[in-house]
Amino acid sequence: MKETPQDKKIMKNLMPGQMSIEGFVGKDARHFNQIIYSDRVKLDNLDLTTKMIADRLQYFTDAAFESYDGSIIIDAKYEVDYESFRGKLICPFSHLGVYRKGLIKLKNLDNGIELSWTPLNIHMIKEHCFFEGFGSIHRLEPKIIKEALF
Ligand SMILES: [Zn+2]
Repeated sequence: MKETPQDKKIMKNLMPGQMSIEGFVGKDARHFNQIIYSDRVKLDNLDLTTKMIADRLQYFTDAAFESYDGSIIIDAKYEVDYESFRGKLICPFSHLGVYRKGLIKLKNLDNGIELSWTPLNIHMIKEHCFFEGFGSIHRLEPKIIKEALF
């Protein structure tokens, strides 16, 4: 696959220190297109789509955001906590628009599986099928998403 100037710019944005201190690829040495491709295959195998996942993450994000005091129980099964931070993030794929800084933590009370994500994760999954690289602090593994949320 030939790398376009736009691809180069995105790759740079995903590295530590460009748009976030930690970056978005962790220890993953693969090109972002390969990371995306491999997660797309995983989604197919799990019978999930990016929209299904993004909608589910957004649902919990919105519910938790509206409850201001600590963690809440949603649908009698999920304990969710929304931690807000000052500031905004922009999409490393050079989209217009800004995303709130925040961290949503969820625990599935039936099976004990925990998951955390940021508002930017939801956008990157929905629009780019990007779950971040291996070792990245906000990497979301499709299999764990399925076990926690579906
Ligand atoms: Zn984007």
